Amino acid sequence: MSDPTDLPTIAQAARHATTLGIMVLPSHYPIPLTAPDEHGRRLACSCGQPGCPAPARHPIQGLTVNHATVNPDRVTAWWADRPNANLATPAGRSLDILELACASPAQQVTDWLDTQGIEPGPIIAAAPNRLHLLVRGSQPTTPRAAPLRDGRLVRVAADTLVLLPPSRRIDGHPVAWQRPFATRAAPLPDGERVWEALVHLPQPTSSTTGTTPSGSTVPPSCPPTSHERRHPRPAGRDRHHHPGHPRSARAGTQARPNT
Ligand SMILES: [Zn+2]
Repeated sequence: MSDPTDLPTIAQAARHATTLGIMVLPSHYPIPLTAPDEHGRRLACSCGQPGCPAPARHPIQGLTVNHATVNPDRVTAWWADRPNANLATPAGRSLDILELACASPAQQVTDWLDTQGIEPGPIIAAAPNRLHLLVRGSQPTTPRAAPLRDGRLVRVAADTLVLLPPSRRIDGHPVAWQRPFATRAAPLPDGERVWEALVHLPQPTSSTTGTTPSGSTVPPSCPPTSHERRHPRPAGRDRHHHPGHPRSARAGTQARPNT
């Protein structure tokens, strides 16, 4: 079960993530509405809160990011109770996440990293025109954002909840792997090196539209990124560990202060 794209259920994906050393947490998730709401949406957040500020992307009741864990027994129990829960990880706990909002298809991004001598790591299609690159944390760790020639690059702020595949967004888009974890032991690329490379990412081949590997076109403009929170990142980086590293086992079962 080395290819997470083959995992049929969120529960299995959650357990697989723990074997990679990724601390996970069950998140609220989209539920269908009997009729479209006033905005024409057919999905709502399972929390039931009108105007939920982070629909389908916040911990299910009674949990916080401090409950994120790699404990497989706890993860199994969570999804046994809520089998439809989205799968999330708090940024900066097990790994850092760079959010790339631009029209460049994932293939162009990985090709660019290759030309810069960087072995690309896992990449998630988080939303249309938005990629999440999973990287190894490095100093300095303050949140960052940079405009690109054709988009924007953001280091997701610590403890921001990020959805992992096969979660589903409130707009109906699936969160999917563009490039899954290669192997359990494969190291993640260094976040600082990936950042420096992506800051110089060339524009898509076409100046007006980009073409995804599947052939669909994407618009030229890039929306603001969703994780541009400016919270100071905790100073202690000792909680960073490499996914797949044995020392991470069960470490997440303890509450961790956020500040
Ligand atoms: Zn909600």
